[in-house]
Amino acid sequence: MTSTKMSSHTSPAGSDTPPLPTSIASQQHDHTHCITSAMTSAQDICARNGARLTKLREQVLRLIWQSHKPLGAYPLMDMLAAESTRRVAPPTVYRALEFLLEQGLIHRINTLNAYVGCTHPNGDHANNFLICEHCGVAIEFSATALQDRINESAADFGFSIRSQSIELVGSCEHCEATDHE
Ligand SMILES: [Zn+2]
Ligand SMILES: [Zn+2]
Ligand SMILES: [Zn+2]
Repeated sequence: MTSTKMSSHTSPAGSDTPPLPTSIASQQHDHTHCITSAMTSAQDICARNGARLTKLREQVLRLIWQSHKPLGAYPLMDMLAAESTRRVAPPTVYRALEFLLEQGLIHRINTLNAYVGCTHPNGDHANNFLICEHCGVAIEFSATALQDRINESAADFGFSIRSQSIELVGSCEHCEATDHE
């Protein structure tokens, strides 16, 4: 059995290595890269599904991707209003959100009643989130062993899972390091 160092994240020379999964909680990460890659994936996925990423849908996705903090429908509508000359009707915004959910580009965080961009929209994954109650960031994670147990337990009940959402609330690595009272 090998021991792992918990304290230091030593990265090889040159910082071109892909960020650690948890690094989205860090304020130093290159979020422009997150947005660019999310928008590119969205174009690809919609093209593959024969779905139309309209200007509004793209705008909604971009606004949700302004951060890794889930965004509620009302703040989203305010942001849309601030960006456009005319007010977008709430049902139109909800339809755009519905579309993005269907394409797997965003997730709905039930405990917050808000939406967050999917960090790996090309993968087959479950809705598992670590939500920081200090900074509001939501980190998507997958855990194969956990998923297997969930599937087994459901199967024991003859239950077929249609939707899954695991939302764990706590403190992210960044907030844990900065002394919060
Ligand atoms: Zn980011
Ligand atoms: Zn996802
Ligand atoms: Zn945090």
